[in-house]
Amino acid sequence: MSRRVLDGELEVGSIPERRPEEMGGEVPEKEVPAKASGEIKVWRCKVCGYLCARESPPETCPICNVGRERFEEFTFR
Ligand SMILES: [Zn+2]
Repeated sequence: MSRRVLDGELEVGSIPERRPEEMGGEVPEKEVPAKASGEIKVWRCKVCGYLCARESPPETCPICNVGRERFEEFTFR
């Protein structure tokens, strides 16, 4: 039993170390070249609002199963 407690403490202790990177990390929004980053587009399903980031829309929506013609290009601002 004491082993499990030790393992649990180790796992818990490793989580706080990751948080500062995600929360306190500086995100250079201005320097993110949207066009130069592989031309990844975001497609939105007009039916259910499903979003996916890829070069072309999926054959069918994984959520509501409609065809790709129901997808429109979604642009961030
Ligand atoms: Zn959909």
